[in-house]
Amino acid sequence: MARNLEFEVVLYPGPILRKVSDPVAHFDEELRATVGAMFARMRKSKGVGLAAPQVGLQQRILVLNPSEDEKNDLVLVNPTIVARAGERVVFDEGCLSFPGIYAEITRPDRCTVRAYDLSGELTEREYAGFTSRIIQHEYDHLEGVLLVDRMTPAEKLKHKSALEELVTRYKRARPAEVAAQAAEREGARKE
Ligand SMILES: [Zn+2]
Repeated sequence: MARNLEFEVVLYPGPILRKVSDPVAHFDEELRATVGAMFARMRKSKGVGLAAPQVGLQQRILVLNPSEDEKNDLVLVNPTIVARAGERVVFDEGCLSFPGIYAEITRPDRCTVRAYDLSGELTEREYAGFTSRIIQHEYDHLEGVLLVDRMTPAEKLKHKSALEELVTRYKRARPAEVAAQAAEREGARKE
């Protein structure tokens, strides 16, 4: 039974983006459908990588492709970055959850990743350059770490109004949710 999954990108400050994601337990049809829909969303949004929490799923799944060629599609399930090495490189990094914001982020050039593929096979590989950059960015999402957390104070200042605008837009789109959260906080204070 094929399900027609369609995902939207969760924008900052969507709360799921702050959650630590759970490992995938089943390498089944549902996982394949999820990954297929994640690639579709990534391409539609003209991204080079996407993490499951960005489509509202608290699962340790990353999809990426540093090129335009679909044969370079890379799926990393339950990934672990076992080593980071090489020169520290500054790169203008964007994120589909932070539309319009690009910030200079410093990361090591190389990373070694242990991850499962779609068939449940565990592999370990070293990546460098742009692919390594994407993996390190997307991996952060699985830990609830975001672009804004990697910014230097100067970068944060530079993007202050754009970040505030995202928060305003988020709240405006969800008045009920924001009111419920405020009520919850109020309740917590009284306890
Ligand atoms: Zn991102």
